Amino acid sequence: MENVQINPLGNNPEVQIPDPCVSSCNFYCEGDKILNQESEISAMEEDESSESLADSMVCDSGSRLVPNGFRKPNCSEEIVLFVNAGSKESIEPDFGISFRDDKFFEGGDTFQTEELISSGGDYPFIYQSARLGDFCYRIDGLSPGDYFLDLHFVELINIDGPKGMRVFNVFVKDEMILSDFDIFSIVGSNKPLQLVDARVSIKDDGLLVLRFEGILGSPVVSGICVRRAPPRESVPHVNCEYFVCNNCATEIKYPSTQKTKVRMKSTAKYEKTIQELSDKLQRKTDECYQSWMSWTATNEQLEKVRMDLDNKTFQTYTLDQTLEKQADKLGAISNKYEKEKKYWAVAINNLQNKVKVLKREHMQLSCEAHDCADTIPDLSKMVSAVQTLVEQCEDFKVKYNEEQMKRRKLYNQVQETKGNIRVFCRCRPLSKSEVSSGCASVVEFDAAKDGELGILSSGSAKKTFKFDRVYTPKDGQADVFADASPLVISVLDGYNVCIFAYGQTGTGKTFTMEGTEVNRGVNYRTLEELFKIANERSETFSYSISVSVLEVYNEQIRDLLATSTSKKLEIKQASEGFHHIPGIVEAKVEDINEVWNVLKAGSSARAVGSNNVNEHSSRSHCMLSIMVRAKNLLTEVCTKSKLWLVDLAGSERIAKTDVQGDRLKEAQNINRSLSALGDVISALANKSSHIPYRNSKLTHLLQDSLGGDSKTLMFVQISPSDHDLSETLSSLNFATRVRGVELGPARKQIDTGELQKMKMMLDKARQESRSKDEAMRTLEESLQNLESKAKGKDQIYKNQLNKIKELEGQLELKTSLHGQSEKQISLLSERLKGKEETCERLQQKVVELENKLKDLEEFKSTAYQEKVNYLEKKLKEQVQEHESRSVILQYKVAKIYYCINMEVWLT
Ligand code: ADP
Ligand code: MG
Repeated sequence: MENVQINPLGNNPEVQIPDPCVSSCNFYCEGDKILNQESEISAMEEDESSESLADSMVCDSGSRLVPNGFRKPNCSEEIVLFVNAGSKESIEPDFGISFRDDKFFEGGDTFQTEELISSGGDYPFIYQSARLGDFCYRIDGLSPGDYFLDLHFVELINIDGPKGMRVFNVFVKDEMILSDFDIFSIVGSNKPLQLVDARVSIKDDGLLVLRFEGILGSPVVSGICVRRAPPRESVPHVNCEYFVCNNCATEIKYPSTQKTKVRMKSTAKYEKTIQELSDKLQRKTDECYQSWMSWTATNEQLEKVRMDLDNKTFQTYTLDQTLEKQADKLGAISNKYEKEKKYWAVAINNLQNKVKVLKREHMQLSCEAHDCADTIPDLSKMVSAVQTLVEQCEDFKVKYNEEQMKRRKLYNQVQETKGNIRVFCRCRPLSKSEVSSGCASVVEFDAAKDGELGILSSGSAKKTFKFDRVYTPKDGQADVFADASPLVISVLDGYNVCIFAYGQTGTGKTFTMEGTEVNRGVNYRTLEELFKIANERSETFSYSISVSVLEVYNEQIRDLLATSTSKKLEIKQASEGFHHIPGIVEAKVEDINEVWNVLKAGSSARAVGSNNVNEHSSRSHCMLSIMVRAKNLLTEVCTKSKLWLVDLAGSERIAKTDVQGDRLKEAQNINRSLSALGDVISALANKSSHIPYRNSKLTHLLQDSLGGDSKTLMFVQISPSDHDLSETLSSLNFATRVRGVELGPARKQIDTGELQKMKMMLDKARQESRSKDEAMRTLEESLQNLESKAKGKDQIYKNQLNKIKELEGQLELKTSLHGQSEKQISLLSERLKGKEETCERLQQKVVELENKLKDLEEFKSTAYQEKVNYLEKKLKEQVQEHESRSVILQYKVAKIYYCINMEVWLT
């Protein structure tokens, strides 16, 4: 069965079996041959419907359908060819008949069966094989002439039907010989059905083309038998009528004996068919109409339903969306809820634990409270004791403050007794180079402990100097600082302090002040001490410490902590006893490490811009200013004090002949500033009314820290070498001058009454000097003001002069113009006079003329009157003459008329 397609139409209720009545019943011509429609359907004579059914399928009038198998013919020689379709082998069962294997076909498939074929005829095996599908047969090699064609069919596949499962047409060339052929609807399955006696005529090509065309399902054929047909002449002559071929208008013979029968049969058949068809049509039309109506209604309903559906879909969509959103929200909320739940669970747990702890504590506390309640009497006693203690404490505080004040005063007094200006002498050791070059030491330290020092000058004469302290070359930095450190306490107590190192270059000024990293000097140690004491006092005082680093070179101040150097720094007085430099960097330092960084920054800035650092440093003053702001935490009193640490420029005298230019200027500036320092100190020591602070930038800067309550410490640095003897002597003399004029220890011991008086006087003198200073300052300021005003006035005066000059120029121009115009005026006035004279003359003339005119008019008017009168008289005379003349003329005219009339009458 694999080659076979079983038509599934049997299951489809829509499939309609073609109405057999519809098949054509027209007459056709093929050459001269007439194909009549009469056919015998022997087995179906009694069955009207079957007959008409089979009849309608046969297109050739000579052919007919026979519902049984092939029988052995009387004369087997008639058979030209029998093709057993679908068979693979040729069979020749009897002598004379040969059933050829399937040949001449194009397309299609074969099918074989072992099924029993009922009424299979003499050779039923023909029907057990078939070709089916889309195929045709091209049988060639036939000799031209007329043949009968028999086709053998059987339904082997759709054995259960129904009808109409396999419907097809059969064509010979293009001639349809079977139409709407349905084997099953005629004989059912497994029964042979033959189309016999289909007449064909073969042309010269000897080719017979058989074409099978499926309408429903695929065509099938079991055998093709080609037989020789007797020539047409052998057909008995019948009385023929002629029909015209519908296709080609050829006249076709039609035997008259069959005519009536065929016509009646076909007419009846057609009428019946037409009737049936029209009934069917009517029914179908009604059905169609009803279907149409119901379809329309259904369509409308459908439209409505669709719209509803659309609406619903949209609603569903929006609902879906909101649902999704809600779901998302719900998710988020549930997540949050979960988190919060956990959080709260933990919190509740914690709280429960806390509550437990609190309960426990509460228990304890209540126990303690009970205990306390028991000890209340003791407690009140204690409270009162504490109160008294507090009171005592307050008392102590006050007393402590008082004591502090006293301590500070006493300390100050101690410092003052030591002298507000102290001079320590420090001698450095001989350097290696000095030793190697054979230099000898000229300094003797036998009485160094008593502050005495001997200098062995030439000729073994010894000169002795006395200072507050003398340091031998063996004394280290710590020893030196030990004596300087009390001043640190004074700074923290609110006093201004100035420590400076004086001496020839190379004597150890920088060593004493700055020191080295491993052997630090006074600067670092002072600050260290400051922080140490500040820390110790941190309960009663709060300190704020800031540092500035300056350099004074050639009377110019340079801020070594400033990032830009463009600014020119000047000293200004901010308040009584407080000078400051606006714009200077004050680096706030919190601890000693920061101090070291600032000091390093300062010294590295000093190196910048100088070719030889040592040389430069020896010719400039390096000044470290430490500002201490203190606040007493008990009394809230604030103080501000300043500590200057100065490494002075080298004090060595340079012979003026040796230097010139910049070096000379440097030397002069250094000399001036150092002698100014000496002058200030000596003026201070002498309690002089005027302290010449302003003689140099150095003393001006140190003003607040020199004199008054401030403490001054000078390190005079000397060299032990005999080479430096003169400079050493010079330095020692300077130091002695500084120290010597100060109140000596002997003078310090005057009785206190005297001291008090002296102090009073001193205070008065100070007051006076201050007020004088103030007056001086105001005078200076007013002088400055006046100067500036004078300058302004000068400017104005110059401007005025310029203006005056301009005006004078203009004036000259104007005067020359004026002269010219005056000349013009005199010229003009002369002309005017002339004009006036002529004018007068002319006026006189005018008067004269007027008089003449008047006379003339008077004379003329009388003459005219006379003339008028005369003329009037003459006119009257003439009028009278005229009148008389006219009377004469009238008379004459009348005379003439009379004459004329007379003449007319006479004639
Ligand atoms: P100045 O600053 O006065 O020019 P320095 O401080 O530069 O002098 O000292 C010159 C040299 O002498 C330096 O090498 C220094 O280390 C050394 N010196 C100065 N004083 C002492 C001292 N007391 N002990 C040891 N060496 C010193
Ligand atoms: Mg130095």
